[in-house]
Amino acid sequence: MVEPLYRVKVTCLCCESAFETSKVRPSFKKVIKTDTDFCTYYKDINPDYYVVRVCPSCGFSFTESFSQNLLPAQKKQYLDAIGSKWQSKRDYSGERDAAMAMETFKLALITGQTVGEKERVIASILHHIAWMYRREGKTEEERRFLEYALDAYVRVFETDREASNSARLMYLIGELNRRLGRFNEAVRWFSRVVHDHSIMDAAMIRASREQWQIIREEMDAEKKLASSSDSDL
Ligand SMILES: [Zn+2]
Repeated sequence: MVEPLYRVKVTCLCCESAFETSKVRPSFKKVIKTDTDFCTYYKDINPDYYVVRVCPSCGFSFTESFSQNLLPAQKKQYLDAIGSKWQSKRDYSGERDAAMAMETFKLALITGQTVGEKERVIASILHHIAWMYRREGKTEEERRFLEYALDAYVRVFETDREASNSARLMYLIGELNRRLGRFNEAVRWFSRVVHDHSIMDAAMIRASREQWQIIREEMDAEKKLASSSDSDL
C-alpha cells in the first residue's frame, strides 16, 4: 500500500545540517473546496501541514519560499536570538496534526522575522496561520491573523516592485478587507482590479466583480434592516 507521506532530505539554510521532513504525495492531495481568499480544504490529509521544515539541530524553520542564501550576519542574528537556545521538544519529521502544523508555522514566522525575510514570505505565513484557525473554527484568532496578513500584504504592495502590479495581490487585499468588514476599503481595491486596463488577469477581475457585488448586497441588506427598524419606532 502506498503511504500518503514520503520523506525527503533537506539541508538547513542556517546551520547546514541535513535532516528529514515529510511531504504529501500528489495523488493524496484531494481538494474539497477553496475559500474566496484561497484557503483550501482537503480530504483526509492537508499538504499545508508539511510546508514548513524545522531543523532539529538549530530550530531554523523555513518554507520553499525562503531565501536560499542567508548572509553570515543573518545566521548570526538567528543563532544568537533563537538557535543557541533551541532544544528540540518534538520530532517534526513525520506525521503532523493540526496543533503541530500550527507550531511549525509560528516557528517559521519567528524565524522569518528574526532574519528579516521578504515581506511577501511573512505575509503568506501570517495568512496560513489565519487559515489554520479558520479550519478549527477559532474566529477571533483567525481575525487577528487576517489583520496581520492584510497589513503585511499592503506593505508588499507598497514596497515590492515585482508584486505590486499583481492583480492577485490587489484582489487579496480587497478580499481580506471585506472579510474584516472594511467595506469601503475593500471596494477601493476591487474597483482598482476591475478598472485598471493594464490588468489582464481575467480570473482576478471576475473574482473582484463578484466580491464587490457581495458587498453591495450586504450594504443593501444593512440599509433595509436600518430603515425597517426606523419604521418600527
Ligand atoms: Zn539548523
